[in-house]
Amino acid sequence: MDVKERMAISRQKPRELVPAERIKHFDEVTAGYDHQNAILEAERCLQCKKPKCREGCPIHNDIPRFIRLLREGKIEEAYWADRETNSMPAICSRVCPHEFQCEGACVRGKKGEPVAIGMLERYLVDWMVANGKNLAKSCALPRDRKVAIIGSGPAGMTVAYHLAHAGFPCTIFESLPVLGGMLSVGIPSYRLPRSIIAAEFESLKNCGVKIVTDTVIGRDKSLQQLKDDGFEAVFIAVGAHASRKLGIEGEELDGVYHGVDYLRKINLGEDMNLGQNVVVVGGGNVAIDCARTALRTGSDKVFILYRRTKAEMPASQAEIHHLEEEGVKIEMLAAPVKIHGENGRLNKIECIRMQLGECDTSGRCRPVKIEGSNFMIDADAIVPAISQDVDLEAINGVELERTRWNTLVVDDLTMQASADWIFSGGDTVLGPQTVAKAVFQAKEAAESMIRFLEGRDLKEGRAVAESA
Ligand SMILES: Cc1cc2nc3c(=O)[nH]c(=O)nc-3n(C[C@H](O)[C@H](O)[C@H](O)COP(=O)(O)OP(=O)(O)OC[C@H]3O[C@@H](n4cnc5c(N)ncnc54)[C@H](O)[C@@H]3O)c2cc1C
Repeated sequence: MDVKERMAISRQKPRELVPAERIKHFDEVTAGYDHQNAILEAERCLQCKKPKCREGCPIHNDIPRFIRLLREGKIEEAYWADRETNSMPAICSRVCPHEFQCEGACVRGKKGEPVAIGMLERYLVDWMVANGKNLAKSCALPRDRKVAIIGSGPAGMTVAYHLAHAGFPCTIFESLPVLGGMLSVGIPSYRLPRSIIAAEFESLKNCGVKIVTDTVIGRDKSLQQLKDDGFEAVFIAVGAHASRKLGIEGEELDGVYHGVDYLRKINLGEDMNLGQNVVVVGGGNVAIDCARTALRTGSDKVFILYRRTKAEMPASQAEIHHLEEEGVKIEMLAAPVKIHGENGRLNKIECIRMQLGECDTSGRCRPVKIEGSNFMIDADAIVPAISQDVDLEAINGVELERTRWNTLVVDDLTMQASADWIFSGGDTVLGPQTVAKAVFQAKEAAESMIRFLEGRDLKEGRAVAESA
């Protein structure tokens, strides 16, 4: 096939449940590609000499290689080419914001639609599962130096994956009764089925990784106790789970549910209906997940209040598209200023209109209040989903350097914290970010931890750990 023929193929659409059906439950919305779609989509790739997609991928997966192998019909080989760098392709292919990462960098996106890299990656995993193949390689023989991992999200899972495959016995300590961090208690199952997460943990357990749930490090056990128990290196991956508050009057009223707290409750099985009229505040993935979850739990009229315009929303276009298809409206250029209530329960939200003011060097413009433009909205619930902060309860007892945002300070190259036996990565270091960034940092940290345990130089021969 020549370039002209490749350019003539349009981006293949994955199979999806229709909106009226999918809002009745939490089943996965997107079903992925069949074989024909996958091959056609793979044929769209131009196999660039300097592949921008690879630079755009936070993990730097060798995307052109796995696409080439896929279209040659070598699907198992293509899967392993991807898995060389990606510790969790089944998850990343579903939840990565591809349009800001690999697909955002794809040259085909300049004059049309980029190659659907995420869907192709997912096809590889789907094919492996359908053909009864193992998704992980066998593990190395156990060595005698053990490691503790605090937190079972993507960062903790990735460190466990690499260390277990290098033969180091690992124990993951998790404060919650469920595993997976924000994959399980943040991202709803209609985007990431829980069976996918369970399969990752099954393969970690098969590799000898021990898992201890319902244990809060810093409260039930200290870092020092872990050291005394013989864990020679510790990876801190506690994420960013503290909901940021709006800081307005009335935020303590009943009917106010902060974004990640709300999703955690739902994901842990609590039966919650927020009432008929629900206002979600924010423009990111968390806000969208809250709105779509409220719809699925019985609320009729859900809308999003965002202080900038739709073009500035940090959520991915695919998510915004799904949200609007499901009937959620976005009220742009508006922000809440006060929550009104009666007998301790909210009934109205006072908002103000905004306009875009000065823009910074990246082109992002500051929202500015239009004085006197206040208006009221009747509501049964408000869900502020404006961001999350890191809570470093886990590090009680050991002095570790932190930033002014309360994230942990680590060396950029090695991910080593200010105590030499402690390493960190993911949201604990970056603040709320993405799965792929957590996977990348954790992979770098795992390499450092192996060197540390073997008494080798942590930096020799390594370039600065840089994620896209
Ligand atoms: C609603 C929502 C939707 C998102 N959607 C996307 C998306 O579509 N794509 C994407 O790439 N990213 C998304 N993200 C972000 C992504 O989930 C995170 O960036 C990623 O999970 C960070 O991984 P982590 O391992 O650093 O932390 P986490 O996943 O947060 O895991 C941290 C774990 O540590 C545990 N823990 C905390 N304190 C302790 C303690 N003291 N002792 C023991 N365990 C502890 C927590 O319970 C948790 O299980 C989303 C986040 C949210 C909240």
